[in-house]
Amino acid sequence: MLKTPVITLDMLINHQDVGSCAYFDVRDPGRLTDLVGRVASGSVDHVHQAVLGAHQAFQIWKRTPVSERVQRLLAAADGMEKIADELSVTLVREQGMLLKETQRDVKNGIRALREMAGLAEDFLRPERFEDDEAIVRIEKTPRGVVAAIVPWNAPMGLAMGKVGPALVSGNTIVVKPSEYAPLAVSMALKVLASFFPAGTINVIHGQADVGSALTRHPLVRKISFTGGTTTGKAVMAAAAETIKNISLELGGNDPAIILDDADPAIVVPELIKGIFPRSGQVCYAIKRVYVPRKLTSAIFDAIVSAVDQYKIGYGLDPRANFAPMNNRHQYTIVRGLIERSRQAGASVHALGTKLEPDNWDNGFYVQPTVVMGLPPDAELVVSEQFGPVIPLVTYDTPEEVLELANATEFGLASSIWTNDPERGLAMASEIEAGITFVNSHGRTALGDKHMPFGGVKQSGIGRVRTAIGLAEYIEHHAISMKKVTNGDRL
Ligand code: NAD
Repeated sequence: MLKTPVITLDMLINHQDVGSCAYFDVRDPGRLTDLVGRVASGSVDHVHQAVLGAHQAFQIWKRTPVSERVQRLLAAADGMEKIADELSVTLVREQGMLLKETQRDVKNGIRALREMAGLAEDFLRPERFEDDEAIVRIEKTPRGVVAAIVPWNAPMGLAMGKVGPALVSGNTIVVKPSEYAPLAVSMALKVLASFFPAGTINVIHGQADVGSALTRHPLVRKISFTGGTTTGKAVMAAAAETIKNISLELGGNDPAIILDDADPAIVVPELIKGIFPRSGQVCYAIKRVYVPRKLTSAIFDAIVSAVDQYKIGYGLDPRANFAPMNNRHQYTIVRGLIERSRQAGASVHALGTKLEPDNWDNGFYVQPTVVMGLPPDAELVVSEQFGPVIPLVTYDTPEEVLELANATEFGLASSIWTNDPERGLAMASEIEAGITFVNSHGRTALGDKHMPFGGVKQSGIGRVRTAIGLAEYIEHHAISMKKVTNGDRL
């Protein structure tokens, strides 16, 4: 078989490729023996160069008319679309997901850019008020250099969800991709950067120390971070040093509550679409399922038989509909949770078919696993597993299940499953979360257009998507001019 060449990736500062004295390896999570890329490992000095470049570019970009920013962003989105196939395949090889999942991530990234281009002109128009004495103008101004820190699980959608609103509102940006999926997103950012003046988009690479230096740099005015809650706390502490604005999209422990009037045959096929995409490595995936006692065995049987249909294999194998996990750290956490659930006496069901049993240990493969019989306070139920294992927890009353669902420091997504719309909506309003779905666990086309995304409590601060998300990237500059002559204008 023809070997694909190893990608060498530098940083991008001021339109220049910037190398380093050290490079780190990116291996294929579904074929660990394959080296996919070697990536320049940044230093604190590189962070400084990138932020300085972005700061200088900001002096010009902030004065660029909104209409020109919009045109450039749209052209950049078209440029990214032209290499969508290459990006999707590279993403499979570094991130491990199925090709159709990485294609969706690339599409989401392009859509995020276009969405913000579409909102900008109306949203950024200043407000104006006037009476006999004065004129007041409220300008929506950019903040300055934005530090965008991205995780590995959906790097395209998440990175572009920061680049789009940041740039269209006049900020410049330094992106730090995850060390576990830096290649495709950097290839996309390099194409995008070519549509903007030098320094508008910069990319640096590295581990936590590089991310930390970026969050501490005094010229960074806003941090847009997506990742784990523990890292989010470190980011928030770093931001406090110079009072930077922050948006945090963090972890979740998202409950699905099945009510006792639900029909298992209708619920289960939709429910598993909310649990297992990207092998459970989705921030807002269902992390725990609450089942009413009278439906427990019907729901359990239906889930097991549906999940057992998965074919687990390599992301580029067209037969596979279930992919490996992304990295050893997350793989070890998930395997530990499964093992400890077994030791605690739960009934643990590892399902699906292994397409390449001989390659199983050459990747971070984990079978989709359903766990029954854990108490509500078990480790697997109360933590964010971020992987292909799901606990089913039995409950008796609606009051009890509501209390269990809300007894967490997380509050990202959630879902209610019922035949009774009134009951579903009433319970949805009682859930402490940024997002609640009824009878699905994912956005419809309407939700895609109108739902801001984000979490409450320790799942985050702020929202992405829609005009509410765009607002995170601006300041309000209020200007009042007292009239001295009749012809005053503002
Ligand atoms: P992570 O927190 O380990 O890393 C995220 C990014 O932060 C990486 O680029 C990493 O290099 C960087 N980083 C690490 N330490 C840092 C520090 N001290 N300062 C600054 N940057 C630092 O998260 P991960 O493992 O890449 O991603 C998985 C987590 O992300 C899960 O908890 C998941 O729920 C969460 N997530 C949340 C959302 C959301 O929208 N709420 C979306 C996707 C993922």
